[in-house]
Amino acid sequence: MALPAPAAGSRGLLSFRLLGFPVDVHASFLVVVALFGLSAGGGPSFALVWLVVATVSVIAHELGHALVAAPVGGEPRIDLYGLAGLTTWRPGRASRARRVAVSLAGPAAGMAFGIAVLFAYRAVHPEPGTLLDNGFRAAVFVNVFWGLLNLLPILPLDGGQVVLALMPGDDRVRLRRTAYLSAGAAAVVAVLAFAAGQPIAAVIVLYIAMGNVQTIRSLRSAQRDPFGDRLNAAEAAIADGRPEDALRDLPERGHAPAGWGPAVALLRAMALLRLDRPRDAQDVLLEGLPEGTRIDPTFEAAVLLANGQDRLARERLDMSLKARPPLWAVRELVALLARRGEDFDALLGHLTGEGAAGMLYGLYGAGRYADAARWGARAIETGGDPDVAYTTARARARSGDASGALDALDVAARLGFDRADEVRRDAALAPVRDLPGFAEVLQLIADNAGLGASAPHR
Ligand SMILES: [Zn+2]
Repeated sequence: MALPAPAAGSRGLLSFRLLGFPVDVHASFLVVVALFGLSAGGGPSFALVWLVVATVSVIAHELGHALVAAPVGGEPRIDLYGLAGLTTWRPGRASRARRVAVSLAGPAAGMAFGIAVLFAYRAVHPEPGTLLDNGFRAAVFVNVFWGLLNLLPILPLDGGQVVLALMPGDDRVRLRRTAYLSAGAAAVVAVLAFAAGQPIAAVIVLYIAMGNVQTIRSLRSAQRDPFGDRLNAAEAAIADGRPEDALRDLPERGHAPAGWGPAVALLRAMALLRLDRPRDAQDVLLEGLPEGTRIDPTFEAAVLLANGQDRLARERLDMSLKARPPLWAVRELVALLARRGEDFDALLGHLTGEGAAGMLYGLYGAGRYADAARWGARAIETGGDPDVAYTTARARARSGDASGALDALDVAARLGFDRADEVRRDAALAPVRDLPGFAEVLQLIADNAGLGASAPHR
């Protein structure tokens, strides 16, 4: 819920697979839930029963999310930590209807499980007041009540996720509107909980309300800071093969606004690496980043490789490429390897998702369009976003596959791509614009922009 999530890929105290999904039960979950059980006053034996009941119930709820997220390639995983369970999945290709279904599936699964337990309770009919009786009551209560609670229109609860998926506007607008609604609804619930003599519940809901206020504030400050836009433009220039533009537009070391120093240093290093100045790139990383800053190991490996430190670089890559390396780091590594004419299929051939998208961008920037198109297809299959599909369309068009490019553009449109002007002007797409069917896809894209994609996905 609102507690800090465990680091990506960190293993829980209990780690297993259920119906094919990785499940991690973290120590914080067991501790918090056991304390809750003890505070209920039933003694250690009840606390133990409660711990089992809560763990099984939360997993039942999360399995509902995971089962509906899996068919769209969301690669769901389940973590139990703090007071709650969390199913993470990659909604990349998912329609709004699917997102809503994923959100509702959790409470639905939990309540169905609760009702099944209720029938079992009736059938078994344990002696009132016994541990078995209390365990059954707790299981029914937890599943039904938590299911209902989760449907409140408050982020990050499931009901809030439903509202977020249905809210009109672009991603930022939807998040802002939903956060306002969530903060208001949470404040009302907190007052009601307090009035009903539930001060602890009131405090928890107030905490959730504060989280939403924080979201609204950070959306505002991100909007007000034009420096962030400047950095985005610099990164776009690097990805686009114009590192000299990026370097010109980035402030010198020590001249970045407070807090932006590391981001600027990283971008300068990227641009310098592209300009075949690996020594300078390394210096920027060593001197421009505060002590102890963790450099992405994939990008660090690229810098090491460029500086001839091959052995150290391979060590970094051994680790980093097994995890999910970020798009930008793979992009820069591939751009380097492509410039050096190195064969990297053995090294990078396994990447999917964001990594595959990094391959797409890196190869596209290096002018290897057919290879880029191949990786684009894999990135789309494994959770690509509208931009990935759009760049795949450009790569296919440039490699002479105009009809394949139109297919990718269609995928981009269906994923919500909405930059119709860019599609009309993009030189790479010239061969696609003559094809029958192009007008229809362009219309989809224009509709996305006009509607703010408020209709459920096609
Ligand atoms: Zn849920």
